[in-house]
Amino acid sequence: MNKYLNIILNTIFPLKCEVCRQQVPLSAGARICQSCRGKILLIGDYFCRKCGKSLQVETAFCVDCHRDDTLYYESIKAAGIYQGVLRESIHVFKYNRRSCLGPDLGEFMLSSYQKHFGLNSFDKLVPVPLHKKQYRQRQYNQSEVLAKNLSRATGIPVAVNVLARIRGTRPQFTLNRQERASNIRNAFQVKNRDWLKGSKVLVIDDICTTGSTINECARILKQAGAIEVHGLVLAHA
Ligand SMILES: [Zn+2]
Ligand SMILES: [Zn+2]
Repeated sequence: MNKYLNIILNTIFPLKCEVCRQQVPLSAGARICQSCRGKILLIGDYFCRKCGKSLQVETAFCVDCHRDDTLYYESIKAAGIYQGVLRESIHVFKYNRRSCLGPDLGEFMLSSYQKHFGLNSFDKLVPVPLHKKQYRQRQYNQSEVLAKNLSRATGIPVAVNVLARIRGTRPQFTLNRQERASNIRNAFQVKNRDWLKGSKVLVIDDICTTGSTINECARILKQAGAIEVHGLVLAHA
């Protein structure tokens, strides 16, 4: 949008930052203010090379990944830590029908993509799908919004109808690592195998806790012919 038009519109219809609810100047298309953005905790230099979790000391893998031999994905990369402003933003984005936060969070995800992956690293972006029921409630899939943003910036196509969630699952945050894995097992189905044969796939999701959702996606994407599966998420718990 034109910079001056944006200033005029902001004066007539002042927007509030979706996180702190303050009426502060927002740049074009943005819904999170500079001050809130500055408070997001980024994943630093020390992180698990497998699941992307932030670590206190430099070591290759976190304790969980170190002893887990059932990991199907190559790696997960997270942009930030699921706390404070980022946690609040994702919550508003997911549960308060604020798909307008997509560009802010998408931009944040893009910076992480650029840090970890090259331009031609993937053939497809695959958003983690919602179950029909969740989709009806929320009216959009937050992972799909993020994937479309990333696609616009990178030119990698989004494979929207390739993966479907065929089974409802209990909310993952109430469960421990083992329960999460069995809760999500067989929750997805590949709808279009032709799209996947021989391809390198980046699975997009908003949050990663133990990595079990992306791991299950990777398991069936590989079964359907994908040769490499990485994950990219906004936040790691
Ligand atoms: Zn703010
Ligand atoms: Zn790990």
